[in-house]
Amino acid sequence: MIGRYEHDGKTNFTCILSCQYLLSILSNGKISSMKTNKNLPKSEYKTDITSGKRIAADLHPRSPLEDSHPQASLAHPHNWQQLAPPLLDWYAQNARSLPWRETKDPYRIWVSEIMLQQTRVEAVKGYYAHFMNELPDVAALASCPEDRLLKLWEGLGYYSRARNLKKAAKQIMDSYDGKLPADHAALLKLPGIGPYTAGAIASIAFSLPVPAVDGNVLRVRARVFGDDGDIAEQSVKKTAEEELRAFMLTYFTCKQTQMNPGAFNQALMDLGATVCLPNGTPDCNACPWQSMCIAYQEERTIELPVKKKKAPRRIEKRTVFLIMDGDRVVLRKRPAKGLLAGLYELPNVTGHLDEKEALTYVRSLSESSDVSKGIGTASDRFADNASVQNSTENTGLQPLRIQKLEPAKHIFTHIEWHMTGYLIRVDSLTSESSGLLFAEQEDVKERYSIPSAFDAYIGHIKGSSIL
Ligand code: SF4
Repeated sequence: MIGRYEHDGKTNFTCILSCQYLLSILSNGKISSMKTNKNLPKSEYKTDITSGKRIAADLHPRSPLEDSHPQASLAHPHNWQQLAPPLLDWYAQNARSLPWRETKDPYRIWVSEIMLQQTRVEAVKGYYAHFMNELPDVAALASCPEDRLLKLWEGLGYYSRARNLKKAAKQIMDSYDGKLPADHAALLKLPGIGPYTAGAIASIAFSLPVPAVDGNVLRVRARVFGDDGDIAEQSVKKTAEEELRAFMLTYFTCKQTQMNPGAFNQALMDLGATVCLPNGTPDCNACPWQSMCIAYQEERTIELPVKKKKAPRRIEKRTVFLIMDGDRVVLRKRPAKGLLAGLYELPNVTGHLDEKEALTYVRSLSESSDVSKGIGTASDRFADNASVQNSTENTGLQPLRIQKLEPAKHIFTHIEWHMTGYLIRVDSLTSESSGLLFAEQEDVKERYSIPSAFDAYIGHIKGSSIL
């Protein structure tokens, strides 16, 4: 038979002698040496007539190869052929119900996958609905003003994801007539789309047999195969991708299942997200692979996967100022590059200032305000203090009252901000000089995108818990 596959951006055709032959290669030639598993008879995958639920036997007919080699007892590396049928059966019964699974629209699947990077599913649901309501298609995203886009993204963090979405949307309008390309290699060339996201879109939206390997998949794979390779290493990820790509190409081309590649990828994601949980707490009794899993059989679920520890985050002390005149609050825009680039923030400075220092600093703000103060490291505390000391003239904001606010912490990928804060009431805000904005509460809520790092202090603005 003739097979079609993608490699390095090209569509290739290959002569496949037989599915049986290829599957024997994927099984590393060792199926014949595996033991019969008396605990997992084939009948375990029969139809439940009373419930009418789908059955494994219908979905995954045994190949002649499998029939000549009874069900293996433990998963062997590369033997996804053995693992796929029980996984797909489990998924048919246990798939999570998620808003972006109710559609095949590639745009919606793309946006959901980008939002889900670094963000919990439950947190994404509300943002996804709001985003889709306002930007229902590629054209709307491509023409959305950046400030509005960042406002829609507010709270999700990692704002470069939103900027890349827009850049990619413009390219899709220019090069693909507003439709995401049904081509794995072309997807990979779009801004913000890496191997995982390209695989997810290609398989879920377009049913292409390509893998989507993320941390969940690497964890599950390490455990089921008893693989102690470091999953933080690129080489381990690459091996997993290549092995799954070869398996999927054969398995789904051979039409051994009525499930599509997208269902397989989502099944792996769901198993990792709901059963084979991280930090040594997998729910093995609910796992369709329990009897085949090497980590389970060898009681190594706590030690697998192996993942080298990241360098500890740098701790940065900061003082945040909630400066208000009536209902108006002082904001400023961050620089176009660096941490939280281009977003709006409450004025803040490196170090923990006492009340006297805080008042002096606020008096100096409108004459010496420099947005770069908001992103400095511990060393610029000295520069900030020099600015405070030199500011003897009250040409800027005039504090009337000061109230210390509770400490707060915000964790970025490589940095932790340990914050203290002050609510400072000032005499009338008149001049928006020196990069300061005097924002009405409604604008804080609707117009300016303020990172969640400031939630603890923004929440003090009258009439809102967190705007
Ligand atoms: S049996 Fe346990 S450790 Fe093994 S894949 Fe399933 S949940 Fe993970």
